[in-house]
Amino acid sequence: GKENDIRWDKGVCRFCGTGCGVLIGTKDGKIVATQGDPEAPVNKGLNCIKGYFLSKIMYGKDRLTKPLLRKKNGKFDKNGAFAEVSWDEAFDVMAEKWKEALKKKGPTSVGMFGSGQWTIWEGYAASKLIKAGFRSNNLDPNARHCMASAVGAFMRAFGIDEPMGCYDDLEHADAFVLWGANMAEMHPILWSRLTDTRLTKPGCEVHVLSTFEHRCFELADNPIVFTPQTDLAILNYIANYIIQHKAYNQEFIDNHTHFTKTPTDIGYGLRPDNPLEKKAKNPGKGALTKISFDDYARSVSEYTLEKVSALSGVPAENLERLAKLYADPNKKITSYWTMGFNQHTRGVWVNGLIYNVHLLMGKISEPGNGPFSLTGQPSACGTAREVGTFAHRLPADLVVMNKKHRDAAERIWKLPEGTINPKPGYHAVLQNRMLKDGKLNAYWVMCNNNMQAGANMNEETFPGYRNPENFIIVSDPYPTVTALAGDLILPTAMWMEKEGAYGNAERRTQFWRQQVKPAPGVKSDLWQLMEFSKRFKVEEVWPEDLVAKKPQYRGKTLYDVLFQNGQVDAFPLSQTYAGFDNDESHDFGYYVQKGLFEEYRKFQYDGPKIGHEQAPFDMYHKARGLRWPVIDGKETLWRFREGYDPHVAKGKGIDFYGKPDGRANIIFAPYEPPAESPDKDYDLWLSTGRVLEHWHSGSMTRRVPELYRAFPNAQVFMHPDDAKARGLRRGQEVMVRTRRGEMKSRVETRGRNRPPRGLVFIPWFDASQLVNKLTLDATDPLSKETDYKKCACRVEKA
Ligand code: SF4
Repeated sequence: GKENDIRWDKGVCRFCGTGCGVLIGTKDGKIVATQGDPEAPVNKGLNCIKGYFLSKIMYGKDRLTKPLLRKKNGKFDKNGAFAEVSWDEAFDVMAEKWKEALKKKGPTSVGMFGSGQWTIWEGYAASKLIKAGFRSNNLDPNARHCMASAVGAFMRAFGIDEPMGCYDDLEHADAFVLWGANMAEMHPILWSRLTDTRLTKPGCEVHVLSTFEHRCFELADNPIVFTPQTDLAILNYIANYIIQHKAYNQEFIDNHTHFTKTPTDIGYGLRPDNPLEKKAKNPGKGALTKISFDDYARSVSEYTLEKVSALSGVPAENLERLAKLYADPNKKITSYWTMGFNQHTRGVWVNGLIYNVHLLMGKISEPGNGPFSLTGQPSACGTAREVGTFAHRLPADLVVMNKKHRDAAERIWKLPEGTINPKPGYHAVLQNRMLKDGKLNAYWVMCNNNMQAGANMNEETFPGYRNPENFIIVSDPYPTVTALAGDLILPTAMWMEKEGAYGNAERRTQFWRQQVKPAPGVKSDLWQLMEFSKRFKVEEVWPEDLVAKKPQYRGKTLYDVLFQNGQVDAFPLSQTYAGFDNDESHDFGYYVQKGLFEEYRKFQYDGPKIGHEQAPFDMYHKARGLRWPVIDGKETLWRFREGYDPHVAKGKGIDFYGKPDGRANIIFAPYEPPAESPDKDYDLWLSTGRVLEHWHSGSMTRRVPELYRAFPNAQVFMHPDDAKARGLRRGQEVMVRTRRGEMKSRVETRGRNRPPRGLVFIPWFDASQLVNKLTLDATDPLSKETDYKKCACRVEKA
């Protein structure tokens, strides 16, 4: 509609995995306002402070509008200064570097680091270009730092990714348990729904677990601060309690689960020569062994209340109250977690342990009952997980290691058999190490700020970017720390400057239309990926035996064989939405977003796996998002349960159909200590995370004056006694040191985060205080996700 000449249209928030609907107000080719969309089922008209200031994120003063290349004497030089160049020159140099790397060392020498903030078709196109076009699986999203442990555990327990429940559980549950999730700041709109339920439903309770007190503790009926890493022991104690009290759901266990145990001794995913790395028997290996219920009961029996209370530092009565809650057959419980579980050297294990508790009780896949992993990014699900941007994945839950899966992808993508490399590529942490070691030489970073986000950046991230053997391209709207560390910066269109789609944490896919034009010369990630593919003839990148299998591709470019209208379903431009510009489609001459999405849907209907079905493209422009699987236009609220999930046959009740036998896996995993703990030299725990006002590395929100002022700089949140013992006052400058680096910051003893004695918390949004100089790159060997939540530090007067 029109109101003061402002055109309003539906959109999606650019920031968190909550996926709030927003109304976008446009006037004279500029976004001038946003408001919560009252028709959006997720947020019903509400937004958090980041959502309210969305209209300003595209208009930061230092927005980039021209490609910038490091040059000396008119030529590319790794040590030169950034100079403006045309897109042609940028792509020329870039293509030359990629061809050089491919020729010298083959497909594993090129790679890309992408994002759960890409739109769905950007991720899909990147996956196709890197995995099919360049035949390299070195594509990973920043979701590796975020959701990889959740993915690993979903696959182990259920054989299919993503939560079974949905946000409706926020109203159906009788109790909520937060495990390492500060929803009040990270998922504020979901928190407001949870708060409503807690305050209006009689008997409703909230249990909050964390390694420090945060804003959620204000609502906690059972506040629990535990020693880092002991969540593993607490979850096993709960399972033990359920078994000792014979509270488990025998019928559910007999019909829908089986028991296994995980191999232990898997190391910490550090470089082998790191003194903190442990010589592991099973590094990275996850084969499970079958055990009986009795074996499982014996394994958890050592996690007694006394022992776990001593280990975790949690009073016995708080632990018992939590265990009683889970064991109560009459209470519907939803458990939430985010980075506290995922960024963990045993992240896959700890995700699995919460499934164990829900499965023992049969409290899963029904309204109000279920384990729910919240995502950080707006499209961690839609883009990182669903379209296959992880180093081992292909679209719709397929993996490169499986011949049938590769066959399906090659058939749908019309590729010669054998195009896709069967070996997983370098994951995020390995990409940094391979850059440093000179094995990954042409590298494209899109839609993320890894130089600020990657752990142990002094030793592992930065040296790789500056290695003279490497050429680093960074696509970003702003000159981030990452962009400035690279060799070529490409100015990127953002958010409402392109047509987009995100998939949020509850499997809801949501679309928006392009609302405004970017500045001339600013191009979307999709345009960049497709345009770059025109620079390569198939013979230049594929071996002759592969080209010979499809002689009609000879002389064609990667663009011709991957993206051209006719290769991808060619929907005419007349189908794009009247009144809205669609730059990419106009540039490529067909409705490219629709073509790519409809092709992606073939993986769901014509591939070897069921359960990921998306609706036809056009439905999403009419709906406020739909939760997949969507069959015959109907979305699915609770998966695996008869009556809700169309894939569960009548009479079955429950069917975990991701597994061949329809049973979920209860996997025993023990407590193991973290890679690094405080000692006499580094006597405090260091934990990192986010704050409400800033999105991730702050590259957008710190450019909004109101958000910048609301929380201008990072702080060292610490206990007043710890400050006093070091002779420090609130607001005083301090040096924080770890074995890897140091950082200057200020002490905060009274703020919104209240760590216990012995732990400090520092947010990572502040580009002027790079806390990832300090963090350790200890990584879960199963999920390859780094533990940013615990390492050892010391704090001293600056
Ligand atoms: Fe909603 Fe998250 Fe955006 Fe806030 S940041 S408005 S909670 S989607």
